[in-house]
Amino acid sequence: MKQNLIGGEWVDGPRATRNINPSDTRDLIGEYALADAAQTKTAIAAAETAAAGWGLSTPQQRFDALDAIGSEILARKAELGDLLAREEGKRLPEAIGEVTRAGNIFKFFAGEALRQAGEVLGSVRPGVGVEVTREPVGVVGLITPWNFPIAIPAWKIAPALAHGNAVVFKPAELVPGSAWALAEIISRSGIPAGVFNLVMGRGTEVGATMLEDKRVNAISFTGSVGTGQRVAAACVSRFAKFQLEMGGKNPFVVLDDADLAVAVNCAVDSGFFSTGQRCTASSRVIVTEGIHDKFVAAVAERIKTLKVDDARKAGTDIGPVVDDRQLAQNLEYVKIGQDEGARLVTGGQAIPTNVDGQPGYFMAPALFADTAPTMRINTEEIFGPVVSVQKVKNYDEALHLANDTPFGLASGIATTSLKHATHFKRHAQAGMVMVNLPTAGVDYHVPFGGRKGSSYGPREQGKYAAEFFTTVKTAYTSA
Ligand code: NAD
Repeated sequence: MKQNLIGGEWVDGPRATRNINPSDTRDLIGEYALADAAQTKTAIAAAETAAAGWGLSTPQQRFDALDAIGSEILARKAELGDLLAREEGKRLPEAIGEVTRAGNIFKFFAGEALRQAGEVLGSVRPGVGVEVTREPVGVVGLITPWNFPIAIPAWKIAPALAHGNAVVFKPAELVPGSAWALAEIISRSGIPAGVFNLVMGRGTEVGATMLEDKRVNAISFTGSVGTGQRVAAACVSRFAKFQLEMGGKNPFVVLDDADLAVAVNCAVDSGFFSTGQRCTASSRVIVTEGIHDKFVAAVAERIKTLKVDDARKAGTDIGPVVDDRQLAQNLEYVKIGQDEGARLVTGGQAIPTNVDGQPGYFMAPALFADTAPTMRINTEEIFGPVVSVQKVKNYDEALHLANDTPFGLASGIATTSLKHATHFKRHAQAGMVMVNLPTAGVDYHVPFGGRKGSSYGPREQGKYAAEFFTTVKTAYTSA
């Protein structure tokens, strides 16, 4: 049984959960403790006690700890990637890539601990000096989803610690393995007891307790829109700081002048890799009429070559869906698309076992064509390997459709026209814009986040993370 980390002690929970491999549902990865509300409060109390000391720690202490965490993650990336692929279903190379990203994030924020700076300004009053400094927020609650089991925890935990906060971390119920492994590494990094706490458990119990407890000064959340709304309401009611990263319905535009091979590669990567389970996935492809038929035929051909199989097997292109609920939701959307009159070009069916007879949540990647912008498959986040293509007359119509969504996380375009690329970068209503690149796949040292219904609050990652994980103080001194 893997335990929770509370106040520097590993403790059992009143209940436990079984971590199951979605590539082979007979494979039990392990049992993990589930905390209850009382244990969550104990973790919050431990963080509150530890916050003051850590807030006054030196940049060198923070650097040393974060650098050690990053080094160990990188040194163990094959093993941790294997665990991630086994519990989440991301194919092994992508899983190892995610672990590498997590290690690099800790390294980056080790440096940020040293780089934290303030400002010294002249006052408008004679004889007065003004200093603007950043201080830790205090106790931060971090709530994460299942689709990036180590990278998202890393991009919240690392800046939280680098900027001197104490952490209560609640990972998603489906992927406790990567979270526990990360917590175990952090527990040996030299960070004082109570500064970092792991509380695995249910959202409605552990998560809800974190939202309501006044000792938690800030909540950083990534997950669905519905849960994000709950986080926002709870935090506003007690004036806690909060940051939300939520869903997407990211468009990918393909223009007549695009390089067809580039467009197909981008669309297949963004739509289907990681089983379509990325918030930056593009599930809406908007294609101008001159290239439309060639593009749809080429994507369909490529899909047929993709191997859907065990996430850890060499040669697998697409692993399983994360669990039975997500698989049922994907299949339901395939049916909705057909009922709405879209043309299912290929895929869309469940594959109950892989070629070796392993029972898993496999699904053939689905491509829809002849879809209308108002169809639910074009307006709602599916979060699976389901992509729909819309045909448009020209760039202007494509841009209009790309922006015609309540979401605004990522937006992409395939074009060889500098004019269209430049215009799109400026006018795409999204936090991240990609030209001739997949919408999914981002760097770890620059801001990440969206607009409209996809995000709320300051950006995550890079030096911009300081906006959320610190609070600014303005000090006036008369000499
Ligand atoms: P989810 O909202 O179901 O769960 C996210 C987290 O919130 C989990 O840890 C869960 O236990 C917790 N939670 C659930 N109910 C809660 C409550 N009442 N109070 C407090 N916490 C609660 O989301 P999910 O299914 O794990 O993740 C998929 C979603 O995440 C998708 O919508 C996807 O787009 C989004 N996502 C967004 C980004 C981004 O950066 N924008 C990145 C990854 C995933």
